[in-house]
Amino acid sequence: MTSLHLEDDYALEVYPRRAINIVRGQGAILWDDKGGEYLDCAAGVGVANVGHANVAVAKALARQAETLITCPGILYNDQRGQLMQKLVELSPPGLNRVFLCNSGTESVEAAIKFACKTSGRTGLVAAMRGFHGRTLGALSATFKYRDAFEPLLPDCAFVPLNNIDKLEKAVNENTAAVILEVVQGEGGVRPAQADYLAAARRCCDEQGALLIIDEVQTGFCRTGTLFACERFDLVPDMLCLAKGIAGGMPMGAVLCTDRVQAGIGVHGSTFGGNPLACAAALATIDFMLDHDLAASARDKGEYFLDRFSAKLPARVREVRQVGLMIGIELKEKATPYLKALLQRRVLALPAGPTVIRLLPPLVITSDQLDTVIDALHAVLSD
Ligand SMILES: *Cc1c(COP(=O)(O)O)cnc(C)c1O
Repeated sequence: MTSLHLEDDYALEVYPRRAINIVRGQGAILWDDKGGEYLDCAAGVGVANVGHANVAVAKALARQAETLITCPGILYNDQRGQLMQKLVELSPPGLNRVFLCNSGTESVEAAIKFACKTSGRTGLVAAMRGFHGRTLGALSATFKYRDAFEPLLPDCAFVPLNNIDKLEKAVNENTAAVILEVVQGEGGVRPAQADYLAAARRCCDEQGALLIIDEVQTGFCRTGTLFACERFDLVPDMLCLAKGIAGGMPMGAVLCTDRVQAGIGVHGSTFGGNPLACAAALATIDFMLDHDLAASARDKGEYFLDRFSAKLPARVREVRQVGLMIGIELKEKATPYLKALLQRRVLALPAGPTVIRLLPPLVITSDQLDTVIDALHAVLSD
């Protein structure tokens, strides 16, 4: 019996699954159990930025697995220390402290707790269409997926992205934090504007609230710079990271300014900062810098936009592209076209009902990108 059937028999169903059993990957290619080859424009939902089966990451993992896999936060560890130093050196100035965890939602959970602890307040302001994770705290700041779970955290207000007026009215003396994505991912690949992000920084400063920027999806070269907030000279009080941080190993991080207070016992994580994930993250980040994947994302993203837009199918309403984070908004539902792409062996993602989202590994080659563009043209023009 193949594991396709095994999962059908045994998994608690929470994912809308495609009937493909993936057993191997290399760069931007995935293979199924019958040897079928797919061009991966999902990259594990923006995780495999350095490509599948990246040799540098695999070697670091193997070496570390034979050395030390687990080490609790109450002890020091060489890999963890090196990773923290690297994250602080590479992030916007002022972000000087690191909390390590195991996923995006955990990084948001931690940031929310640190914001409440630091400010002595409980209010959150988040953006409509924003996505910050599925656990109950992060879900409180997430616009969708919440119906069955309310009331969630009290005092969470949602404001429309890029409307400065509404943001200014929502932030007040009860606001612990404003939380925003630089480019909304799940919400449809929607970039925040520079003046809006600057206004968010200003509002937080005026009202004594903290600014949390969630770069779980935009981080690690995806948008053409190591972190998307670099392009705006934006320094948040906390920067949430995960997805691409460790080449596919589960890891999350919160980078904090000196203003952020936690305190002994305020938060923690058994697996957070484990040596295996830290070794993978160190190898992943070095690979990104050595191969300038930020420039790759920039150049390949522009190349995609030029070539795709040259023959723009009539059913496309708009293309939103920041580096290799690409949203193709259709005038109709995206699902049939995602299925048609899969038949042509191109794996893409939705982002809301009408948006096709592409998050390929940043090591995708131009030939592979051409194949994706040709498939999109064919499918969307049919
Ligand atoms: C994916 C995502 C999360 C949640 O990350 P998980 O690792 O799935 O918990 C949070 N914020 C943003 C912006 C994301 O894209």
